Amino acid sequence: MKKVILIKYGELTTKKGNRNYFVQLLYERIKKKLESFPISIQKDLSRMYITLEEKDVRSVLEKLQTVFGIHEYYVATLVDSTKESIIEALKKMIQEAHFTTFKVEVKRSDKTFPIPSMEFAKELGSIVLKNTNSKKVDVHNPDLLIHVEIRENESFLYTDAYKGLGGYPVGVQGTGLLMLSGGIDSPVAGYLSQKRGIKIEAVYFEALPHTSLEAREKVISLAKVLAKYQNEIKLHIVPFTQLQEEIYRNGKKEYTITIMRRMMYRIMEQLCRKQHAKCFINGESIGQVASQTLSSMEVINAVTNLPVIRPVACLDKLEIMNLARNIGTYDISILPYEDCCTVFVPKHPIIHPSLEECSFIEKNLNFEKILEETIENTFVLKIKEEQDEKFKDIL
Ligand code: ATP
Ligand code: MG
Repeated sequence: MKKVILIKYGELTTKKGNRNYFVQLLYERIKKKLESFPISIQKDLSRMYITLEEKDVRSVLEKLQTVFGIHEYYVATLVDSTKESIIEALKKMIQEAHFTTFKVEVKRSDKTFPIPSMEFAKELGSIVLKNTNSKKVDVHNPDLLIHVEIRENESFLYTDAYKGLGGYPVGVQGTGLLMLSGGIDSPVAGYLSQKRGIKIEAVYFEALPHTSLEAREKVISLAKVLAKYQNEIKLHIVPFTQLQEEIYRNGKKEYTITIMRRMMYRIMEQLCRKQHAKCFINGESIGQVASQTLSSMEVINAVTNLPVIRPVACLDKLEIMNLARNIGTYDISILPYEDCCTVFVPKHPIIHPSLEECSFIEKNLNFEKILEETIENTFVLKIKEEQDEKFKDIL
């Protein structure tokens, strides 16, 4: 008897034209994720089957918890399509399961199997009753639903489904650049955009020596968490100090953050072009701080034509914090290192900035050359996922 993990795609199947591509990407993602296990994967347009050794089941299930594009998965026992093999597997299965009520459901895709589905389900039900004590059949709401799927050469027996992460396989939408600060919001924004199929590269604006190298380490740790969902993340480190000092020295104080963010957006746009990214992503949430009022967003957004994706724009801070806890970034984000924005934050940042005022301030700044240099001096770190991953206990 072999073990098989049966994967159902969910949302993918609604995209008819692209199905092949989606399935192929998901297949590659799973293959890469499970490269250290002796497994084989078969796929068709509605499901995938991973054949594996029984001892690896738990570890493989944990790994699958980091793959977007999986709707549900089942651990199945694979047997020959003979009555005897199916009964033998069923007996083993019920010995290991905890339940009081149950139901057996039989599906035959191989109609040459000699017993009709309903009849065989009844027969298997009576075998369960005979081989257990005080169990009952409940066809409406059983504790244990036993699926028996009979195919031409081999059959599957499986019970409960595990819930996958849903979403689309990472990469199906191409690449986007994530503005990754050390805060709570931006890693969550990254995770949510990966979930929609965007492969991310992270961008961190650094203001050494106003910010510490520990702050950079914190961003690296966050990138490592996000790398779990796509294997590796490029982290672009933008040396932002000179530009920031220039803005701080020569700009109007209440406009410091507005202008700084316009500079960040300009740099993001150029990095996107360089990396062939279709959008950039950040952790802005409407109304959270002065630079995230709708008026501020309008003025800051005016420097770019690229789509700016803000996955947490409409979430409350508490909702974002809960997501951060679930994905394991919260504890890293609350470490106390200064971020470049907090260092330069004025006492009264403007809430309704004017575009004309921004243009006026920027004309006096002479920022083009510094901006160019800043982009030239940006460097990339390749961040791999953490090897000793800790997962939620899903079993
Ligand atoms: P976070 O929003 O991640 O919790 P934060 O609240 O300190 O951090 P904000 O000042 O709210 O950050 O900035 C809004 C968004 O701008 C961040 O979510 C992030 O996407 C981006 N951002 C801010 N500072 C930086 C930075 N130093 N490097 C990269 N991106 C940044
Ligand atoms: Mg924020």
